[in-house]
Amino acid sequence: MNPLIKKILVKSIISKSNLPVCDYSVNPYVGCTHSCKYCYACFMKKFSNHLEEWGTFLDVKIWEKIKNPQKYSGKSFFMSSVTDPYNPQEEIFQRTKTFLEEIQGVDINLSLQTKSDLILRDLDLIKNFKNIRVGFSINTLDENFKNDMDNAVSISRRIVAMKKLHEEKISTTCFISPIFPEITDVEKIIDAVKNFCNLIWLENLNLRGDYKPKILNYIKNNFPRHEKLYQEIYQRKNISYWIELDKKIKNYAEKNNLEYVYNRDDLQKNYSSPPTIVNFFFHEKIKKSAGGKY
Ligand code: SF4
Repeated sequence: MNPLIKKILVKSIISKSNLPVCDYSVNPYVGCTHSCKYCYACFMKKFSNHLEEWGTFLDVKIWEKIKNPQKYSGKSFFMSSVTDPYNPQEEIFQRTKTFLEEIQGVDINLSLQTKSDLILRDLDLIKNFKNIRVGFSINTLDENFKNDMDNAVSISRRIVAMKKLHEEKISTTCFISPIFPEITDVEKIIDAVKNFCNLIWLENLNLRGDYKPKILNYIKNNFPRHEKLYQEIYQRKNISYWIELDKKIKNYAEKNNLEYVYNRDDLQKNYSSPPTIVNFFFHEKIKKSAGGKY
C-alpha cells in the first residue's frame, strides 16, 4: 500500500530538544514509512492529528531557508528523534539533504540515526562536518525477523553502509535496539559490526501504549516458546532477564577486550577503535523527559 503523502509548511525545521543527547532535534518528516512495529514515536499520531495507522502516512516538511545558521555554531543536533531522516521518500523529497546543505559550514555537533543506506547519497555533505556521528539501528541478523518488524532496507545493506562510512573515517554507532529477549543475539551482532563502528549502544525493548499488545501477540504467534518470558518481563515487570543479559555481555566484552560502560555521555566520544559498548537498559525516565518535543 502506498503511503499517504502530503507537504506541510512549518516555521522552522529546528526544534529545541529536551533529549539528553542534543540541544536541537531536526525531523524533516512527520511519520515514518519504515513502519517499525515497536516504534515509540507513534505517539506523534496524536500530536499531528493523524488517524491513519503509523507507517502509512508521511508529512513532508517544507520550511523557509534557515536564517543565520551560524548562530547554531557549537550546538548539538540530532536527526531524527521521531522519524527516519532517510526513509524511502527522502530519495524524492530530499528534505534531509536540504537541511544538511543549509547547515553546511556551521560548526555543529551532528548525530544522524537511520535504518537506511540512502545516507550514502549524502556522503560528500556529511564528510564536511567536523563533528558528526552516524548511527545504524540493528537488532537482529535474521532478515526474516527484520522483515516482520520493519520496512527498512536489509540488515546486510545497513552493515555495508556502516562499513563504508567507517572507512571514510566518520564516527559510526551501532544501536542494538530494541533488544528482543531471546530473539536479539547481541553478541553475534557485535561480532558482525565491531570492526566498522566506534560505539555500540544496547537498548532493551520497552513496550507501552498501542504497540504493546501487538508485539505480545506477535511473540505468541511466532515465538510461542518465549511467550511466558515476555509475560514475565512485560506484564509482571520482572527485570531479572536484563540483569542476567548485562552480566553476560560484560563477560563477552572482557573476553573480547571491549570497553563496557553505562554512561550515555560516551555518545560524544570521537573516532576510536575497537568500539565501546554502552549499556542503556534502564532509561524510561529519559524517554519521558523527551515527551512532546520533536
Ligand atoms: S525507523 Fe525509527 S522512527 Fe521510523 S518507524 Fe522505525 S523506530 Fe519509528
